[in-house]
Amino acid sequence: MDPKKIKTFKAYSSCFSLRYNGAVEVAKKGGLGLLLRSLSLSNDHEPHTGSMAYHDSIIKIPAAAIGTSTADSLHKFLKRSEVKAYLKLNCKQEKDTSSFNVIGELKGTEFPEEYIVVGGHLDSWDVGEGAHDDGAGCVQSMEVIRLFKALNYKPKRSIRAILFMNEENGNAGGIEYAINAKKKNEKHLAALESDRGGFTPRGFTYETKTKDHYDFNAWEKLLEPYGISFIEPGFSGVDVRPLKPQGTLLFGYEPDSQRYFDFHHSDKDVFETVHPRELSLGAACMASLIYLIDKYGLSINVN
Ligand SMILES: [Zn+2]
Repeated sequence: MDPKKIKTFKAYSSCFSLRYNGAVEVAKKGGLGLLLRSLSLSNDHEPHTGSMAYHDSIIKIPAAAIGTSTADSLHKFLKRSEVKAYLKLNCKQEKDTSSFNVIGELKGTEFPEEYIVVGGHLDSWDVGEGAHDDGAGCVQSMEVIRLFKALNYKPKRSIRAILFMNEENGNAGGIEYAINAKKKNEKHLAALESDRGGFTPRGFTYETKTKDHYDFNAWEKLLEPYGISFIEPGFSGVDVRPLKPQGTLLFGYEPDSQRYFDFHHSDKDVFETVHPRELSLGAACMASLIYLIDKYGLSINVN
């Protein structure tokens, strides 16, 4: 990952295809296997896993990630002499099985037929515990509902906290949710996803089908004391994105991104690395945004 990119998600997305398409590209050139330098900015020997693809027409070679420091050492050895690698992998693709999204709802008092979603994803990679990816987003989404109940806030619109299933392996939960919303004719005004770790709040990004620009100046001012410095166009979240064709305004919670890829998809993504105060600050900011959307709606902000 390019350390010169300040926003680490930009660095990740610009080299994501190395992991996703790496095995196919190496096989095309006659390679027997792929050892990938992990997509991470930390310097250690921890491998970081993630999605990858094979093509039926191209030989399926083994592929494995190695830690960034391991890769750097290997690079040095290769400059000096030939290196032999022995790969023993025990990973396998199991058959699909049934699973479920988990949904909690506060019924709206004025416009119960209008929905605002807040969510994260319940599944994670087998390494680590998926604490930041995306246990944090799940806990924060449930916390939004808990905060409203604790404050005895009765939302005008129906608020749904959704723990989506299968984000990492095909997004079946997000896709199925959007299909059902359309079938039931449910009007989804907005959907906010937290899937960038439980770190200190920085801002929110948003996207729409129509590419409308919204003027969130007034809301930014209200959220600024809590660490939110922008609400700007950008990627929302994999799970909520299937709602985009229905005209839903999609938001992504954007915490500080500097440490996320130290943990991402690795054995290091465990509960102990989530800072409770940073997690709570994020949940409070998310609850504040959902509150503003519920109270004022969204049409007032279109430019
Ligand atoms: Zn995730």
